[in-house]
Amino acid sequence: MRKPKNWNQPCPNTECQSYGLMNKGNISAISTYLTQSGKRRIFKCCDCGTTFSETRDTVFFDLKTHEDKVMMALKMILVKVGLSGISFVLEVKVETVLEWLDRAYKKADEINVTLLKELSVTEVQLDEMWSFVKRKVSKKAGVAIESNDECDDGRQWIWVSYAPEFRLIVAMVVGPRTFKTALLLIQITASVILGVPCFFSDGFSCYLPALIEYYYKIKTFEKTGKPGRPRNPVKEPHEDLVYGQVVKKRKKGRILEITYRIVCGAERFIKSGLKISTTLLERLNLTIRQSLAPLGRKTLSFSKNRENLNKQVVFFQVFYNFTRPHMSLREKSAETDNLFERKYVSRTPGMAAGITNHVWTFRELLTMKFDYSP
Ligand SMILES: [Zn+2]
Repeated sequence: MRKPKNWNQPCPNTECQSYGLMNKGNISAISTYLTQSGKRRIFKCCDCGTTFSETRDTVFFDLKTHEDKVMMALKMILVKVGLSGISFVLEVKVETVLEWLDRAYKKADEINVTLLKELSVTEVQLDEMWSFVKRKVSKKAGVAIESNDECDDGRQWIWVSYAPEFRLIVAMVVGPRTFKTALLLIQITASVILGVPCFFSDGFSCYLPALIEYYYKIKTFEKTGKPGRPRNPVKEPHEDLVYGQVVKKRKKGRILEITYRIVCGAERFIKSGLKISTTLLERLNLTIRQSLAPLGRKTLSFSKNRENLNKQVVFFQVFYNFTRPHMSLREKSAETDNLFERKYVSRTPGMAAGITNHVWTFRELLTMKFDYSP
């Protein structure tokens, strides 16, 4: 048998002492088998004897379809081709495309959970953009009014939190334009970044209370000596919390006036030298609009459509963070410093944030494995 090598394959057997461990020398390649997508390796864990295919725990596991077709469908989802278009071009059922999207979403979620953590970020921009699933309500719904939780009028909002210094999408969720979804966005963001960054958003009123739920100090009230119950302690913004808003007044879609205001943490904001801005996030929103086609289906319920849209945006998030080099993130190559022949190294947001060391291929996005030992 060949000497154990680093195959980037963890042992999948939960009973094994090496379960989830990667590149510890316990995994050997023992044979190959031929699929219609080409040769695939079979691995064996030397500690427990479990054998498994290299496609185990990837998007392609146990699929009869050629990998290229699956990848093409998933790429089309990211370049604004609708479900029926993909179904027509590739001659597969819409349900099949949705099943592949589900697999891609699960891998994307695993990538996020594994790599997006303890990020050192100085600034976070927050925004929510609408996307209509049911066409007929789009005319009626009109401007951005804050909707309630059960809002079922066909409006879907895509929420984004973005770290402009790395061009990194920190979190992306789909939900109604309510406090509850704002809270979810802040919760995911707060759980993956270190410390308290500066937050900037539009004038939407729900971000401040949502931020205070995660970045707060408790204010207690002294007994006044007067009769009656003493006041209950309340949450106040944490002294490190900086939150600024860019408020745009519009008339018939045209911007009349832009106001910048610091909602809390003015002193720390001035020290930070940052500017209140959501410009880069607005540019990202345009990219999102140019990339994602609405996946809504008349045959599915509103909540099912919302679920599919959520899968699509999370998949877009990892695609954006790990496979797309960003022009503004490229670095001068150390190899040459000839002014006329300056070479650059492409970098993705993930590389800028220091959570990966290379530009991922699209296939890597669907097959990446991680050490998941407890
Ligand atoms: Zn094992």
